[in-house]
Amino acid sequence: MGDDCIFCRIISGQIPAERVFESADTIAILDIMQASRGHTLVIPKLHAPSLSDLPDGPTAELFRAVKAVMGKIDRALSPLAFNVGWNHGMAAGQHVFHLHVHVLPRYQPGGAGVQALGISEGDGGTRQALARLAEGIRTA
Ligand code: AMP
Ligand code: ZN
Repeated sequence: MGDDCIFCRIISGQIPAERVFESADTIAILDIMQASRGHTLVIPKLHAPSLSDLPDGPTAELFRAVKAVMGKIDRALSPLAFNVGWNHGMAAGQHVFHLHVHVLPRYQPGGAGVQALGISEGDGGTRQALARLAEGIRTA
């Protein structure tokens, strides 16, 4: 995409970043706002605003890169656990519209998982409600 996109500019070397990993299709950099120590962004080199826009080959490579980066952080920082994921769309908190996976090492026991993020918009789910939901998604 180029100059409008901060992650494209990091990938091309126009803007500095702390790179911790690179493969043919991906880079990983330390997030400039460390939500936890070692908070890393794994970024496909191809400009794609979201996962839906990324072809399958680079998507597979992105997941491999996430695994490699988790291994590196594990060896370097020995966290207790990780939360790993991405914000897909503005309402989910996406600010940079070049796909990136957040890798968040966790150092304290008992942390809330990613499902805690949706708690205000869920109803827990009865069995009938689950069946209706599943049917709607399955047939989409
Ligand atoms: P998101 O809200 O999921 O789009 O996340 C964007 C992330 O990019 C935020 O966590 C920012 O702190 C991070 N970020 C923005 N600019 C930079 C930069 N120049 N270098 C490293 N991380 C950045
Ligand atoms: Zn980009």
